[in-house]
Amino acid sequence: MSEVRKPRDPVTGHIKALAKGFKYLIEPNRMTLDYPAETMKLPPNYRGFFTVDDVKCIGCSMCEMVCPPEAITMVPRIVGSGGKTLPAESAPQDQKAAKRTKRPVVNWGKCIFCYFCVDVCPVDAFRPTGVHDVAFYTDREYRPTYEEYLNPPEDPYKSSKKVVSKADKKRGVSYEPAP
Ligand code: SF4
Ligand code: SF4
Repeated sequence: MSEVRKPRDPVTGHIKALAKGFKYLIEPNRMTLDYPAETMKLPPNYRGFFTVDDVKCIGCSMCEMVCPPEAITMVPRIVGSGGKTLPAESAPQDQKAAKRTKRPVVNWGKCIFCYFCVDVCPVDAFRPTGVHDVAFYTDREYRPTYEEYLNPPEDPYKSSKKVVSKADKKRGVSYEPAP
């Protein structure tokens, strides 16, 4: 027969919790980052926001097909001068002369930053930025137009102190200035 556990003594539990709090008051054991004054230096291959090279993309839709949360929408475009694209509604009167294509737009509210789209692209058209600390205020901002998507969000903490984490036996994790 399994042993029945005794209920915890609430008084002892509170005393232990207070003792621990007092210990950290005397000897702070900070394990958190002083964010946003300090931000982590990210590796070059970090999966942050990304944009697409409008000229390089061939509109194959493979990125749309592999996207697990269906965050990519292909929007109709026409190829303009220099290979850059224009909204499909800008097609010239002679519809036959307009070379029609498609381009991907990412819904940041759905994207899980898995980078399946980046990896599958046959022409390496996606451009990772490494930026990730971005908050949007409205639902509309999560869903950029194609033109907006070509200019992904800028890093709002460019000027913050960059640090790297270090395992510390006594403190758990500590942070030091990035080299
Ligand atoms: S990173 Fe992943 S979730 Fe985001 S758009 Fe690409 S395939 Fe979709
Ligand atoms: S970004 Fe790459 S995978 Fe997506 S449509 Fe363009 S060429 Fe195809």
